[in-house]
Amino acid sequence: MRIAFASGKGGAGKTTLAVNLAAVAAVRGIKTTYSDCDVEEPDGHIFLHPENLERTDVTVPVPVVDDDLCDGCGKCGEICNFNAIKVLAGRVVSFPELCHSCGGCTLVCPLGAISEIERKTGHIATGVSVVKSGKDAPGRLYYEVDECGGEKNTKETVGLERPGLAKLRFTMGTLDVGEPRSVPIIQDLLTMPDESNLFIIDSPPGTSCQMVESVRGADYVVLVAEATPFGLNDFKLAGEVVKMFGISCGVVLNRVMESEASATESSSRPAQDGIKEFCRENGFEVLAEIPAIRKIAEISSTGGLVAFEIPVMEQAIDAILDRLAEIIAG
Ligand code: SF4
Ligand code: SF4
Repeated sequence: MRIAFASGKGGAGKTTLAVNLAAVAAVRGIKTTYSDCDVEEPDGHIFLHPENLERTDVTVPVPVVDDDLCDGCGKCGEICNFNAIKVLAGRVVSFPELCHSCGGCTLVCPLGAISEIERKTGHIATGVSVVKSGKDAPGRLYYEVDECGGEKNTKETVGLERPGLAKLRFTMGTLDVGEPRSVPIIQDLLTMPDESNLFIIDSPPGTSCQMVESVRGADYVVLVAEATPFGLNDFKLAGEVVKMFGISCGVVLNRVMESEASATESSSRPAQDGIKEFCRENGFEVLAEIPAIRKIAEISSTGGLVAFEIPVMEQAIDAILDRLAEIIAG
């Protein structure tokens, strides 16, 4: 089962959800892979600490012209839709960074003057993450959330009633600096041989072609929506993309203001209502509502896994995983 975590905007909490769900699934004994497809800014490794990473370069074919064979006929420039090859004053000039590797220029050249070379755009890496949960997470404290949405430190590690160690397969893609073509890296990541039962895709944020590439092969998309006015707008855009592909979709409503007063004050209430209305209209199930608790951001900012430290997050991740298991079972 492939589950893509996506969000209309960056910073909505998508990676936090994806890494924590992967970790909890692994601790439950599910054979899990986490794949970081946010290739411009992959940060899943900060939380999952993969070991023994093996890197493989990702390359794309681009044209190279043999000037001795070329007669400057211009046919290659005419066929290129991306202005990646042009004939100027009888000489061919190419712009490899614009090339989409369609192979059209090579095919159309009447003199066989164009061949292809491989150009590196980034790399993918695979490794293993060892997840330490509950009592086995060194130095971790366990935070209780009080009725008002605040938190209090229990002053001792309480931990979860789960085995302490679990492994999951970790993969990530990284785009080279200044390189515009990220899609080939995502394609390589998502077509690697994989034997896991749960394959979690951490998609790039937004609605770009990268996001489309990472969600379109998924069996299910979890859209993470931030309950703010900006979050509502970007969520709707991402929701439309998922609808376009006809993929089943559930929504996690993040940073929900629990008290009526704070929600109204921060304009969160209309955004929360708007997200739920969009879900109702489009048949998106609301999988969980996660309260706005500062401790979640604090623990995440230090690379901690909140599902093993904050009860409300433990419950939310458990509930999402249970619901996904039901959906998988049909
Ligand atoms: S199509 Fe071939 S021969 Fe014509 S300009 Fe391009 S490289 Fe040269
Ligand atoms: S391979 Fe396609 S995109 Fe690249 S230069 Fe040739 S025609 Fe243009």
